Amino acid sequence: MSDLVIGVLALQGDVREHLVALAAAGAVARPVRRPEELAGVDGLVLPGGESTTISKLAVLFGLMEPLRARVRTGLPVYGTCAGMILLADKILDPRSGQETVGGIDMIVRRNAFGRQNESFEAAVDVGGVEGGPVHGVFIRAPWVESVGAGAEVIAEHDGHIVAVRQGNALATAFHPELTGDHRVHGLFADMARGYRTAGSL
Ligand code: GLN
Repeated sequence: MSDLVIGVLALQGDVREHLVALAAAGAVARPVRRPEELAGVDGLVLPGGESTTISKLAVLFGLMEPLRARVRTGLPVYGTCAGMILLADKILDPRSGQETVGGIDMIVRRNAFGRQNESFEAAVDVGGVEGGPVHGVFIRAPWVESVGAGAEVIAEHDGHIVAVRQGNALATAFHPELTGDHRVHGLFADMARGYRTAGSL
């Protein structure tokens, strides 16, 4: 079987770290900036960064509609932090001009963990990830205010939802790509493998 190809949306944010983590999880990892590049991937990571900037650049680069279309038809996607915001069907406090790709029936609050807590680290148990808690790095992180019936909460921190899965879409408020622990990327690579296998039957 040909290589599993997972793209990283490379408009802004911590793209390189995701490419490294995906390669460690056994995928061929490629940056995606253009609709043609999106067409060739079995899965896509939406990195952390600044969600308003990424959303505006996605519109500018003609990627927003193709992204929505592929996510709607089941492309596996994994969003970290700003990427989680991009996967939310609704943002509680959007900035003007901020759009989302959507795909997860959830409402997110940007910068929810607050200014004085701009960054912190915590052990987080993630459903579907074996071998103990992952080390969660939270950087001006959102949390999820609420999820709809189709979305599954897979991790909480301090009483707040910080990881969600809905079908082929996965989102974490924290950044596993910064830790050297590639288990969450491994979970996502398995999702992408399952999608590709189902598509080739
Ligand atoms: N607070 C940022 C936003 O709203 C996300 C920060 C991050 O991705 N580390 O987009």
